[in-house]
Amino acid sequence: MTDLGEKMQRIYFDHSATTPVDPEVIREMLPYFTEKFGNASSLHSFGREARYAMENARSRVAMLIGASPEEVIFTSGGTESDNIAIKGIAFRSKSKGNHIITTKIEHPAVLATCRWLERQGFAVSYLPVASDGVVSPEDARAAITEKTILISIMHANNEIGTIQPIEEIGRMARERGIAFHTDAVQSVGKIPVDVKKMNIDLLSLSSHKIYGPKGAGALYIRKGVFIDTIIHGGGHERGLRSSTENIPGIVGLGKACELAQARMAADGARLSKMRDRIIKTVLGGIEESYLNGHPTKRLPHNAHFRFTGIEGESLLLRLDEKGIAVSTGSACSSKSLEPSHVLTSIGLNPVDSHGSLRVTLGRENTEEEMDYFLKVLPEVVKELRAMSPVWQHREDIEKWKKTMEKR
Ligand code: PLP
Repeated sequence: MTDLGEKMQRIYFDHSATTPVDPEVIREMLPYFTEKFGNASSLHSFGREARYAMENARSRVAMLIGASPEEVIFTSGGTESDNIAIKGIAFRSKSKGNHIITTKIEHPAVLATCRWLERQGFAVSYLPVASDGVVSPEDARAAITEKTILISIMHANNEIGTIQPIEEIGRMARERGIAFHTDAVQSVGKIPVDVKKMNIDLLSLSSHKIYGPKGAGALYIRKGVFIDTIIHGGGHERGLRSSTENIPGIVGLGKACELAQARMAADGARLSKMRDRIIKTVLGGIEESYLNGHPTKRLPHNAHFRFTGIEGESLLLRLDEKGIAVSTGSACSSKSLEPSHVLTSIGLNPVDSHGSLRVTLGRENTEEEMDYFLKVLPEVVKELRAMSPVWQHREDIEKWKKTMEKR
C-alpha cells in the first residue's frame, strides 16, 4: 500500500493529542443521547436509568486504576481534574503550609494552575529533569520543606513520553504525610496504573486519550484525603464538581476504560514493537537524527525525534501534505512559536527544539501505514535539508558554538 499518499488516504500518528472514539464506545453512548436522556439526579425511572449507567461507568474507571468506585469523581477532562486536585488540596491544607512541589515538564493544566496559586500566596518548586526527561526522587526529597502540602508529578510526559518514578516519589510523600497527585492523562489505559501500589492520593485521567469521547474525565481521590471544592453549585459528585452529569460522556469513558483494560497487554506489545521499528529505522537511516526522551522508560506508543537543520513545523506540514498527521510540540502549545518547555527542560537549545517531531501510534495503525511513513520521512527530511541554511552551514555553526562556549 505504498501509494497511500497518491490516494490521499490519511494516516493518523498523533494519538497523544487525541484518539478516535472506539465504535464500541459510540454504540454504548448512543442511547444516552436519545431514549435514556434522564438527569441522574431525578428520582423517576429516567433519572434512575442515568444514575445506574453512571455508577456502572464509575466502577469501570475505578477498576482500571485499582481504586474503589467511591474514590472516583467525574469531571470534564484532564484539565479540570488537575485544577480540582491541585487547587482543592492547596486551599484545604492552607493552614498546614503553602508549599507545592511539581516539575518543569508538566502539562500546562498543572503548570498554569501552580503559577496561579503562586499569585494567591503559595510557593511552588519546579523540579528539573535529566536529559532523558526523568525527574530524580532525590531532588523531590531535597525540595520538601515543613510547609510542603502537595507533590504533583505527572506519570508520563505528553511530549517525549518519559515515564516518571512516581511509585517511589509517592512513597516518600506518604511517609511525610504530604498529598501526592499525579497527572496520568497520558499513561492510564496505556500502561498499568495501580493507585494503591503506586502510593497515589489523587490521579487525573481523560477520556479522549483512550478512545473515549472528548469532554469527559475523572479524578481519583483516595479515601481519607480531603480537598476543598472549587466548583460550587448543586452538589453533584460529592459536592466536588457541581453540574448536571454528562451521562453520554461518562458512559463513553466507562466503556473506554473497560476496553483499555482488556486490550492493554496486547495493544502495548504491538505498539511498542511498531514504535521500536520506527526508532531503529529513523535513527539508523537518517543522519543527525536523535531520539528525545528515555530510550526504554517511555510510553509504548511514543517516538519523539529531532533532526538537525530542520524546522519541525515545515516537517509537519510536508508530512501532512503526504497524508500523515504527526505533531511537533504538544498539541496544546503547537500554536505558539516559543520552543516547548519540555524540550528546553531536557537541555535542548531553541533551534534543536524546533526541529522535533512526535509520532504517537494507536490501535488502528497498521504495518502498511508504518511502511509508507518510513519511506516518506527520509525523503521529506532530505528535501527540507536541501533548502535549509542551518543544515548547509552546520559545521560552521558547530565551530561557532564551540568558540562561544569557550568565552
Ligand atoms: N495532562 C496531560 C499530560 C495531557 O496530555 C493533557 C492533554 O493533552 C491534559 C492534561 C489535558 O487533558 P484534557 O484535554 O482532557 O483537558
